[in-house]
Amino acid sequence: MLQLNVKKGDITQETAEMIVVNHFEDSPELAGAIAKLDQMVEGDIQRLIELGDFTGAFNETILLRPKGLPFNRVLVVGMGKKADLTAERIRQVAANVASKATGWGMRTYSSILHGCSQLDEFCPVTAQAFAEGTVLGAYRFTAYKTNNDPKSSRLETVTVVELDEGVIEAIEDGIQRGQTLAEGVCYARDLGNHPANLITPSYLADQAKTIAKTHKLKCTILDHKEMEKRGMNCILAVSSGSAEPPKLIILEYQSGNPDAPTVAVVGKGITFDSGGLGIKTLAGMIEMKFDMCGAAATLALAQVMGTLRPSHVNLVFAVAAAENMIGEKSYRPSDILTAYNGKTIEIRSTDAEGRLVLADALAYVAERYRPAAMFDLATLTGGCVVALGRVAAGMFSRDAGLIQKLAVAADKTHEKVWELPMFEEYEQDLKSTYADIKNGGVREGSPIFAAWFLKQFTGDVPWAHLDIAGTAVSKKNKGYFREGATGFGVRLLAQLIEDWK
Ligand code: MN
Ligand code: ZN
Repeated sequence: MLQLNVKKGDITQETAEMIVVNHFEDSPELAGAIAKLDQMVEGDIQRLIELGDFTGAFNETILLRPKGLPFNRVLVVGMGKKADLTAERIRQVAANVASKATGWGMRTYSSILHGCSQLDEFCPVTAQAFAEGTVLGAYRFTAYKTNNDPKSSRLETVTVVELDEGVIEAIEDGIQRGQTLAEGVCYARDLGNHPANLITPSYLADQAKTIAKTHKLKCTILDHKEMEKRGMNCILAVSSGSAEPPKLIILEYQSGNPDAPTVAVVGKGITFDSGGLGIKTLAGMIEMKFDMCGAAATLALAQVMGTLRPSHVNLVFAVAAAENMIGEKSYRPSDILTAYNGKTIEIRSTDAEGRLVLADALAYVAERYRPAAMFDLATLTGGCVVALGRVAAGMFSRDAGLIQKLAVAADKTHEKVWELPMFEEYEQDLKSTYADIKNGGVREGSPIFAAWFLKQFTGDVPWAHLDIAGTAVSKKNKGYFREGATGFGVRLLAQLIEDWK
C-alpha cells in the first residue's frame, strides 16, 4: 500500500530519487522553492521557460536530471493560471505525477503540496485532493500479471515537504482523509476489475464479513433460503439460471447516537450479466463483469465510513448480489414475479435484471430500517450511457433536497451527476397487461423508465437513484482513471454522508 508522509522542511534540500515542484502559467517570475531550485540547476528552468519549452500550462511537465544535488530528478509541473486553480486540478496534477513515477518504476519521491501556499485556507482540501490524486494515479491492476516486469513494481512512499510549520497539521488531516477515500476507491476498482469467475455473490458476502470485522460493523447475509422465506422472489428469479447462490448483504454502522438519522445506500451486485434467456451479444457481454460496480462502491463506502466513523449519522449498506445466467431453471420473458413488497412484475426482458434485484433490496431496506434517505448505485441502463456518455452519472429523484445534496457533493468531489427528469408522464410506461408493472420492453427514455420502476419499491422513503452504467468503467487511461473500473460513487457518497444535516 502506498504510504503518504508529511514532513516539515525545504524541498530543495531533500534527499530523494525525485523532487516535484510546480509553476503557474501566469507567474511573472520564478518564486519560492522553484526560484531556489533554478539557481541550483544554473538557470535551467528559467531557460526552458524563455525558450517556450515549458509554460506552466495545466498538467504540463518537464523533467530535469541535475548532477551533484541530493536528488536525481526534478519534475516541474504546470498548474495553469492561478485563478483557475481548483481541488480537481490539484487532484489531476498529483495523479499525473504519481502515474508517471509509477510508469518509470520509481519507488519513492518527494513533492511540495500544490496550491497550498496559493490558497492557504484551502490547505486541508488541497492536501486531501493531493492524496486522492496520488493514490488513484498510482493505481494499477496487476493481480493476474505473472511476468515480473520491474516497471510494474509499485510506488511505495510519497513525501509531502512543507516549509510552513503552521499548516503541517492541516495537511496531515487532509492527507489522511484523502488516503482513506482513495484507498476505498481502489478497493472498489479491484472488485470491479477482478473477473466474474472470482467475484461471485458469495465472494462479495465474504468481503462484507471481512469489512464488518475490521471496522466493527454489523453484517447480515440473507442466503437463498432466507430470501425464499421472506418472499424476495425477484432476486431469486434473476439468479435462478446460475449455479452461484444469490446473497442479500447488509452492513450496519452505528454512530453510537440512536437518534441520529439513518442513511442507506443500496448497490446493484450482478456479478455477471449474460442477459439471461434474452442473451446479450458477445460485444454487449464482454464488459458485464462490471455489472457489480454499484455493489463494489457500496462495500468500499462501508469500509471508508467504517474508518472515518462519523458521529452524526447511522448507516446501512445493502448489496443485492446475484449472477444472471442461463440454465434449466432460468426465469423467462413473460414470467410473473411477486416482489418483496407484494407488487407483481411481468418479465418483459431477462436483461433488465438489475432493477429486479434492487426492487427486493430497496423494499426490504425501506421497510426494515426506515432510513431518512436511501440512495442506490447501479450500472442500470445502456440508455444512460447513450444519454450522458462516461462523464456524468444519471441522477433521478422526486426529492429536490436529495438532488441538491447530490449536486453539492458532486461539485466537491468532481464525481459528476446530471439529473434526468422523473416527470409523472413517464410512469405510465410501467403498465403491464398481465401484472401490476412490467420490467422492460421500453426503449424510449429507458433510464427514466428504469428509475420509475425502482421507485415502486421505495415506499415513502426519500430516495435517489444513480445510474452509473457510464461512469463505473473507463475506456482508457486518463487523469486519475485507468482503463477498467473507476470506483465511481465512493467519494461522492462519502462526501454527501459527511455533509449530511
Ligand atoms: Mn442486464
Ligand atoms: Zn445488468
